[in-house]
Formats: sequence, structure tokens, C-alpha cells
Amino acid sequence: MTKTELLKSIFGYDSFREGQEPLIDSILSGRDVLGIMPTGAGKSLCFQVPALMLSGITVVVSPLISLMADQVRALNAAGVHAAYINSSLTETQIAKALENARQGRYKIIYVAPERLATASFLSLPEYTEIDLVAVDEAHCISQWGQNFRPSYLKIVDFVERIPKRPIIAAFTATATEMVKQDILCILGLSNPLVTVTGYDRKNLFFSVEKPQKKMDALTRYLKANKDKSGIIYCNTRKLVEEVYESLNRLGFPVTKYHAGLTDSERKENQDKFIYDELPLMVATNAFGMGIDKSNVRFVIHYNMPKDMESYYQEAGRAGRDGLEAECILYYGGQDVRTNEFLIGKQNEQDELDEEDRQAVMEKELERLRKMTFYCFTHDCLRDYILKYFGEYGSVYCGKCSNCLTEFEEIDVTEDAAVLFRLIRTSGSRYGISAIVDAVHGNNNEKIRKYRLQENPYYGQLARTSVFRIRQVVNELLLQDFLLLTPDEYPVLKITRKAYDWLEDGNGPEKIVLKLPKQTPASDTKSGKAKSAAKGSVQGAKYPDLFEKLRALRMELARRDHVPPYIVFTDKTLNEMSAYLPDTKEKMLQIGGVGNHKYEKYGKDFEQVIREYCKAVTVDE
Ligand code: ADP
Ligand code: MG
Repeated sequence: MTKTELLKSIFGYDSFREGQEPLIDSILSGRDVLGIMPTGAGKSLCFQVPALMLSGITVVVSPLISLMADQVRALNAAGVHAAYINSSLTETQIAKALENARQGRYKIIYVAPERLATASFLSLPEYTEIDLVAVDEAHCISQWGQNFRPSYLKIVDFVERIPKRPIIAAFTATATEMVKQDILCILGLSNPLVTVTGYDRKNLFFSVEKPQKKMDALTRYLKANKDKSGIIYCNTRKLVEEVYESLNRLGFPVTKYHAGLTDSERKENQDKFIYDELPLMVATNAFGMGIDKSNVRFVIHYNMPKDMESYYQEAGRAGRDGLEAECILYYGGQDVRTNEFLIGKQNEQDELDEEDRQAVMEKELERLRKMTFYCFTHDCLRDYILKYFGEYGSVYCGKCSNCLTEFEEIDVTEDAAVLFRLIRTSGSRYGISAIVDAVHGNNNEKIRKYRLQENPYYGQLARTSVFRIRQVVNELLLQDFLLLTPDEYPVLKITRKAYDWLEDGNGPEKIVLKLPKQTPASDTKSGKAKSAAKGSVQGAKYPDLFEKLRALRMELARRDHVPPYIVFTDKTLNEMSAYLPDTKEKMLQIGGVGNHKYEKYGKDFEQVIREYCKAVTVDE
């Protein structure tokens, strides 16, 4: 079979994605490769297709147990014999798997790096021909990478034991130069084909929101997006617990994940999420590495993460199936401080000397600043991301909250003066909400307690909405007119710059800010975000059929003990409910339906579609 035929019959796809074909061709011609492709680009296929075409077996080194299990499950469902060897198996199971491998029962065998050095694995090359060693998540070999794994160094020893040097294929999503050089050198790739494909994920919608009450914004969003699967990232365990509790109380189908849970709790919760029993996951950044759940429709960051690398990696877990998905970041005034605190704490624990530690800290703080600018830029968010990773974007993507928001220039000289004066005359002692309430003239308990209603500037911005005042405060913070103290309850103060500005003898210079245009419903921006993503997310032509197919998928997934997306992805069901394939021939034209899967699952879906077409007159 040719590679294209394989792609169709086993994986059910019509065409290769960017970058896949050259890598596959190179491997098949016996040349090493290094593929640098973003998360979700389809790196696995680049070694799976050659694995099925080479005469011997392929060993895939992968760092994560869940990732291996997932890929092996997907391969088995597609009719490919594959297995994995890692610490989740008993010694007897491992012995059995290796025995099968020696007898050539598998085309592909996944192995955890620390297993490579065991005697039983090291003897494998004596019994069977290993043509290809694929190193997934290859950045783990580098100390400069995000997840250095010393056991990755064992790959080299293992390869040296193989009588005829196999082709080596390395894959990663991390493209920094240091990591790349490490991979090339340590793995000893010989004259490799190195490909780097674009970082842009066109199906993702990006937005930044600054909700006054994050919980309200979140529940509003979740209500409007019922039945979809999504991840909500929080930056502390405590916050995960709080958000989880609140959502649970409100009856949302939610589970949680963080490093403070026991191994079994984590596994159980992760499975519930993957199997769509509980399609919402609230988690810290401990969650997600190696989770290839293709139907995640949104990733919400309840806090700003510490850098763009983390953000793009986490947000990138949305829309792996290529369908529309949303990545929303809720920025809050506290987020910068919390991150500074976390960065400081993390560096305390490192065994670096003082000088190195300072250098590392500075780099991290610089990355945090870039992340913060992402939350405040008025330019295209996608462009900002791509530039950050060293690519040219376009100035307008039309698919992020900034491109869809009209901005206007507003003269806030008066507002700023009132804010600064109120802060100064009240002794620079209060947090953002007290100050905003005071200038707006709210009369609540806090105001009365602090006697802010007696301040001469109290209520002077009564005609400006609280939302707008907050926006102005945010901008003034960013422009260094205001600052928040690094305390548990941050206090809003004016800076030297604001002080000088107020005292300028010629009368203060104008302050003009670029702010989102106010419309009656613009309080959260999500109105726009939603309408942009609507329709395309689930563009099924016959939505009730889609639901029927989904139900069938759930039934089959339960029967075979696999996650629903292993049966068919949302994208595949979408195509089915748009094209109504009621014969084998038509079914095989649907993306994601290969021969094996057709026999195993496709027939049942075909049946449901046929019944559906009989029951309703379908309009063309
Ligand atoms: P990566 O490892 O690069 O993050 P994966 O290999 O996990 O990405 O692939 C992500 C998703 O894309 C999977 O659901 C996979 O089946 C799908 N995919 C890969 N190649 C293709 C293709 N040529 N056409 C359609 N879908 C593809
Ligand atoms: Mg991968």
C-alpha cells in the first residue's frame, strides 16, 4: 500500500497536513528527521505511517503513560497491532508484551524511556529487526526544554545496541534554538531533514476578557456552551478547589485535577473527563501533558499564566480535531502579583547559586511582562502570539477578540485626575474596588466603613460606568501611573509619574487611552466572541441526527471501553450529519473513516443514517 492509501484505509484521512509528507518520505528513504510542529499538528502520524510500511518494527519512545495508552488504543481501534511498555503494567504483562514483540506480532511498540535500559528490552534487537526509533516529545532530552527527563539520555545507549543502526525520527513542539541543537547533537541525528511548520492554529479563536466577577463570566459562558467539553485552568490548587466547588454546586458536569490529589483520584478524574462522563475539567497546569482529547471545544484560563509558552501550550489543547474552538483568558488585576510570587517561590527552591538564580528570575519576569502585554494589547492577538514565537503573522486575523472589537480613543484626563486625587487624599490605603466604588459614588458597607463618602472626590465619576472606570484603572496601571502593592490584599497607589503629572504647573497634559467601544452589551465582550465562533463549532446540517450519532458513539465507546473520540471524532460525526453517507462507499469518503473502522463502527452509523433518511424527507 502507498502512504496515501494507508492514510485513507487505516486513519481515514484524505490528505496529509502541512509538514507530514516530507517527514514521512524522508523516513521511508532511510534518512533521519527532526519534525518541529505545534501541538495538534499531527506529529504521531509522521512515524505511524512509516512504521506500517517498513518491514521491521518501530520503537516509539514517549514520556507519558497516558499518551502511550491513548495512542495505542487509537491504533488498535484502527486495526493496527501495537502495544506499550511502561510502569503501569505488571512484570508479567511486560514479559508477555516483549515476547509478542520478539515474535513480530506488533508493528509499533511504545516504550517509556526508563524502560529502555532494562535487560529484557535491551535484548529485543537480538530477536527482531528494529527499523525505526521514533522519539516523541524529543525536547525532554534537553536541559533547556520545559520538561527535561534524564532517562531520555538512555535512548542513545539503546540505539547503540541495535546491530543495524535504525532510522531515528525526533518530534517536538518546542522550537527554541537551544533545544533544537540539543536534540540534534545528543540523539546524534545524521544529516537529518529538519522541518518546522507554522505555529498558527487557524481553528482557534483567541480572546482576552477582564471580567469584574470571573465566576459570573464563567458560569454565563458555560451556560451558553452546554454539552461542550472544556478545560478551565487556575493558577493555584486552592483556586481549582474553589472554582470546582462552585461549578459543582451549580450542577455543571465538572471534575478537577491538581498535584495535591492522590494518584488514583487524578487518574479517575482524568478518565471521567476523557470519556466525556464529566466534560468539564478544572485544573492547574499539572493537567494536560499528554492528553490528546480531540474534542475540547474551549480552554478558559481563569488566571493569566506565567508566560506565553505555557499559555499557548495549554490553550492549544482546544480544537485538536481541527474544528472551531475558543481560547479565552480572564485577566484580573491580581494575576501579575500572583505570578511574581509564584516565580519567586519556585526559584527559592532551586539549587542554583545566587547569581544564576537572579538571572533565571529576570528571564522569567521578562516573560511574565510579555504575557501581561498580551492581555493589554489592542492589536491582533494571533499576530502577537506568532510574533512571540518568531513568525510573521498578519496584522488582522479577524478571529480574535481584538480584531472583532472596535476601539475608540478616549480622553480620560478628567477621570485620571479624579482617581489620582481620591487615592492621594484617602491616604493610598485601599484596593481597586473600594477606589472604583468611591469615585463612582457607590454607597456600600465598605465605603461607609472607610468613610470614603466624605472624600471630596467621592462620586465625581458618577456618570462613567463602573466597567469603564475599571478599564481606565487597568490602563493606568499598565502605563505606570498607578501601581498595586505586592500584598495579599493589594493596595492601589499613585506613582511618581502620576504625582508629577498632577503637579505639572502648566496644567496636566492630556491622557488619551484606546479603549473598546462601549455598546449596551459590551460588558464582557463575550457576546462578540460567541457570535464569531457560533455555527462553525457545530455546523451540522441536521443537528438532531448529530445528536443521534453522538448517542450511538457513546454506546459503542462504553461497549469497547474506549473514549468516545477513539470511536469517531466530533469532526467525523459532523461530516456524517452533513453528507448523510448511507452506503459503504460514501462512508469511506468521510474523514476519519478507514476500512477497519468502517467494519468496526462505520456500519452501525450507516444504519442510523439510513433510518434517519427514511424517517424524514431530507431537503437538499
Ligand atoms: P501532535 O502530536 O502533533 O500534537 P497528534 O499526532 O496527536 O498531534 O494529532 C492531532 C490530531 O490530528 C489527531 O486527532 C490526529 O488524528 C489528527 N490528524 C493527524 N494527521 C491528520 C491528517 N492528515 N488529516 C486529518 N487529521 C489528522
Ligand atoms: Mg504528540
